Amino acid sequence: MTAHIIDGKAIAAGLRARVADEVARVKHAHGLTPGLAVVLVGNDPASEVYVRSKHRETQAAGMASFEYKLAADASQDELLALIARLNRDAGVHGILVQLPLPKGLRTETIINAIDPAKDVDGLHPNNAGRLAGGFAALAPCTPLGCIILTKSVHASLEGLNAIVIGRSNLVGRPLLQLLLNENATVTIAHSRTRDLPQLTARADLVYAAVGRPEMVRGSWIKPGATVIDVGINRLPAADGGKPRLVGDVAFKEALGVAGAITPVPGGVGQMTVACLLVNTLRAACAIAGLPKPAV
Ligand code: NDP
Repeated sequence: MTAHIIDGKAIAAGLRARVADEVARVKHAHGLTPGLAVVLVGNDPASEVYVRSKHRETQAAGMASFEYKLAADASQDELLALIARLNRDAGVHGILVQLPLPKGLRTETIINAIDPAKDVDGLHPNNAGRLAGGFAALAPCTPLGCIILTKSVHASLEGLNAIVIGRSNLVGRPLLQLLLNENATVTIAHSRTRDLPQLTARADLVYAAVGRPEMVRGSWIKPGATVIDVGINRLPAADGGKPRLVGDVAFKEALGVAGAITPVPGGVGQMTVACLLVNTLRAACAIAGLPKPAV
């Protein structure tokens, strides 16, 4: 058996196109141009790449994109003043502060300063709490993408056994909540979990969000399960060339057992920026008092 490879690239492209259609519609019908502000502090090369791609995709969807770059030694007050300005700016509907922040800046304080209505990363405690309570919320983009990828395979997740490996605020915890909202039965695992292979073997849906290259082996996976690999691990190339990207799942092994699986790259990573566009559009409509968009 060879698993169906879930084409995150194509699914993300379809989602971006639907967002662009909706952006054109709200512009035409209501004169509203959704705007996303991305704040980068310092010059971490990986963060610079992410910020560039967010800028490109936001513009391609017809939205306004605002980029703010602060020096690596920017003070917390400087960053808080910028966030306060963006909170007040009527042309900005989404604010994203690129993480990780340089040492010396308190991530929690910065996230808490963002207006929850503009918190398109879904990390503000108001949004995390609302999501946990089953209320409407801006949810983090990567878990949203995981759900869309899963639904490309399963029309309904109701009653399916899911395991989420990893309990970060960015991925594991919100993914748990989104899966519960879909009526899946969820186990959440972490570094202290016992018998992880046996727990994983019971799951119809496996989400790996750990940050350990190829930790989840093919032998752990229930035959026919759907495997969503969130991990992005950069392994140095043997010849000193470009680093190789691998996920948290041993892809070749899993391919022979799973029913469907996301590749790395070309899986979850593609969905994260597409879902950021979705959140920005939703935030803009909510702030403007318009009905929820059709995406
Ligand atoms: P974190 O480091 O914040 O969290 C990792 C989680 O994995 C923790 O909950 C940790 O447990 C758990 N863990 C660590 N070791 C083990 C183990 N041996 N067995 C079981 N669980 C373990 O990472 P993130 O959630 O931010 O990211 C996870 C991965 O996803 C990374 O590779 C990251 O690069 C990738 N990522 C990809 C994105 C995308 O767009 N595709 C976006 C965001 C992240 P504990 O809590 O006990 O420490």
